[in-house]
Amino acid sequence: MHPDDAATPWLPYSCQTISEEDIAAVVSVLRSPYLTQGPQIPAFEAAFAERHAVRHAVAVSNATAGLHLACLALGVGPGSLVWTSPNSFLASANCALYCGADIDFVDIDPHTRNMGVDALRAKLEQAARQRRLPDVLIPVDFAGLPCAMQEIRALADTYGFRIIEDASHATGASDQGHPVGSRHADLTVFSFHAVKIVTTAEGGMVTTQDAALAEQLRLLRAHGMTRDVAAFQLPCTDPWVYEQQALGFNYRMTDVQAALGLSQLARIDVLHALRQTLAGRYDALLASLPLRLPPRSAQAVCAWHLYVVEIDETRTPVTRATVFQALRDARIGANVHYIPIHTQPFYRARGFAPGDFPAAEHYYSRALSLPLFPAMTSAQQQRVTDCLQHTLRP
Ligand SMILES: *Cc1c(COP(=O)(O)O)cnc(C)c1O
Repeated sequence: MHPDDAATPWLPYSCQTISEEDIAAVVSVLRSPYLTQGPQIPAFEAAFAERHAVRHAVAVSNATAGLHLACLALGVGPGSLVWTSPNSFLASANCALYCGADIDFVDIDPHTRNMGVDALRAKLEQAARQRRLPDVLIPVDFAGLPCAMQEIRALADTYGFRIIEDASHATGASDQGHPVGSRHADLTVFSFHAVKIVTTAEGGMVTTQDAALAEQLRLLRAHGMTRDVAAFQLPCTDPWVYEQQALGFNYRMTDVQAALGLSQLARIDVLHALRQTLAGRYDALLASLPLRLPPRSAQAVCAWHLYVVEIDETRTPVTRATVFQALRDARIGANVHYIPIHTQPFYRARGFAPGDFPAAEHYYSRALSLPLFPAMTSAQQQRVTDCLQHTLRP
């Protein structure tokens, strides 16, 4: 069959993995008295906290809402300064602007594609001289590879900023045997969007070891409202009383979503193992092509949300655009992660310009995400490889 044939099945870059158990879990909630704010949410939160070795996990409607709440819980507001990685999804930066804060970026380490520790250190030294240090740093575990959190924590202690780890790609990943978010970040945010490691269709989680921060998150995800008499600010006289104590939002997850999340979380080690096997097989299949393959870490377990190669322009004249189009023509869902946030029109209008973060921009000019999802077959990986081989070594 010729790849141009419309009958060639479309191979997506990512795809959820839904089991019969997942379906049964969701259906049982639909038959129960609670569609929202029932028993599934605390059960999912408890299981997630245990898997990630944290005391508190707060489920939210999506990771973008989680990032917004995390900023608010740390007191981010007008006059605050937040730094994040330019190589991320827009939400990692937008969350600071929701709070009226200023945003800036720290360039990436071209090897890990995460925020660079040397770049961070240099930028902090300069910021200290200019007396404009960040209040909050949002490092992003790109593709599921944990950031250098130990080094980042040491810098946070020196310079006095707080840390929100954006682990949207990294549910269940670990560093030196410790789950992401369990040791160095003040707050860690996870995404359960359909393409992520485990899904609730839309959903997110914020984890922390700090009980006071967890309480803030719970208050803010539900309108700033509490029914906890012990926490009331006014004398309570009547049994129906609830108090609004802050300006919160409706950022709650539903019980239907939590049931799906709980069921998916029970399989997370299997899902990780499948992704890891696929990544290893890609490494072997693509080894002889003029591509830079994803980084490997001796100390971290990557969640393999993405498998990103870079076209090595020193070894081939073929451009990323050509390879991308060849894959799409073969009905293979190649993708690009990410257009550096600061080059978006919205951020240019706020004073950023191409050239500001050259490592992120250079990486972006060559990056290509290949299909990767737990149910992907070796035949499908061969199909991707054949297309790349044909295009890069005609
Ligand atoms: C997916 C993603 C988000 C946003 O997640 P949602 O749950 O879709 O709101 C934030 N940051 C990163 C790095 C992501 O990949």
